[in-house]
Amino acid sequence: MQESLQNAGYQVVPFDDGADLVIVNTCTVTSATDAQSRNLVRRARRFNSTCRVVVTGCYAQVDPDALHALPGVSLVIGNEEKQRLLDYLKSDHLKSDQDSTYVEVSDIRQADTVCLSPLTSFSGRSRAFVQIQNGCDAFCSYCIIPYARGASRSAHPDEILLQVVGLLESGYQEIVLTGIHIGGYGADLQSPLTLNGLVQRIEQETAAHRLRLGSIEPTELTDELLESVAASQVICPHFHIPLQAGDDGVLQRMGRTYTVDFFARLVNKARETLPSAAICLDVITGFPGETDQEFENTYDFIAELPITDLHVFPYSKRPGTPAATLPDQVPGNVSRERAERLRHLAAEKHRLFAESFIGQVLEVVVEAGTKAGLLKGISRNYLDLRFSGDASLAGQCIKVKPIAWQDNSLQAEVVS
Ligand code: SF4
Repeated sequence: MQESLQNAGYQVVPFDDGADLVIVNTCTVTSATDAQSRNLVRRARRFNSTCRVVVTGCYAQVDPDALHALPGVSLVIGNEEKQRLLDYLKSDHLKSDQDSTYVEVSDIRQADTVCLSPLTSFSGRSRAFVQIQNGCDAFCSYCIIPYARGASRSAHPDEILLQVVGLLESGYQEIVLTGIHIGGYGADLQSPLTLNGLVQRIEQETAAHRLRLGSIEPTELTDELLESVAASQVICPHFHIPLQAGDDGVLQRMGRTYTVDFFARLVNKARETLPSAAICLDVITGFPGETDQEFENTYDFIAELPITDLHVFPYSKRPGTPAATLPDQVPGNVSRERAERLRHLAAEKHRLFAESFIGQVLEVVVEAGTKAGLLKGISRNYLDLRFSGDASLAGQCIKVKPIAWQDNSLQAEVVS
């Protein structure tokens, strides 16, 4: 949206400068993100009481009435409509009476295409993101995404390749393939393709040097894909897999379609195939009805897995999902304590993994915008490295050697 606005002649200013027009692109993954979005609308009006506020994104998609009711909102548009943002801005909806609000949110479950915007830059980032897929049909019991993003649908591979080529020409050293459910990529295309097939095409038909995969559902991380990553010099050995719980009863209540045995076999296979890969899991603590024993099962299960990091989320009730009405909601302090224990476990596993690379040479993409004198880089296997170097290295791919673990990251020196 920012790039299309700038191309149309709009000037982007810092939020607290009090812009004439504010676009709030909302998230609705929890009630807390809804509240943050409403707060942003209020703050925008405090910085400039006459500004026009446009609200879009997932919260606008699932609850446009709540946003319509907020003072100062001129336009509420859904996730499909936001692709035509410029048309809405040029229309009369924003010119009319300050107090009126125009709402247009179509049924997202009917959407059947992914339209890739012609992006060429990601301000302040050294990695570029390409959304290859959108939507989800899994309807896990805690998740609002299928209602906010619609059915699973894939971008056309030719469009993806064009976007990758454009980003490479803009100088990006790493491309991240993202989506809601990228493991399901291609099933809906007229000429069906798999994620593995897409990755092969990008590798063979572009000059991509580093390609990273976003989160992949465990049931979709195939042997074929694992072997492709192992054989590739381009695809980063980094898997982000949502586990959510290490107890079969909790997994069943969540509507997840695998067992802990299946998951353990998958992670062990990934580790055998790619001994130095980063394997990071998502976990939710305090899902409704999660007993002390069920949580201990999750803890013990993860403790045994050869993983390198965890993203831990205390369960947060999301109105509109089946889990929000389940009995035995777990108190927030219990969910947070359980999350804390898992974060400690993750920190220890991550430290051991990182330290095993001390003395080896790793390739990193240097992050843009780091402080002069101390740079940060991300390795192919998702290690965070800090090293001294000139700020002009930002955005480049260089070799570094880790020398010590300190302040939760690997300290390193530049090799070339
Ligand atoms: S698979 Fe992921 S996006 Fe889809 S419903 Fe489940 S948690 Fe949500």
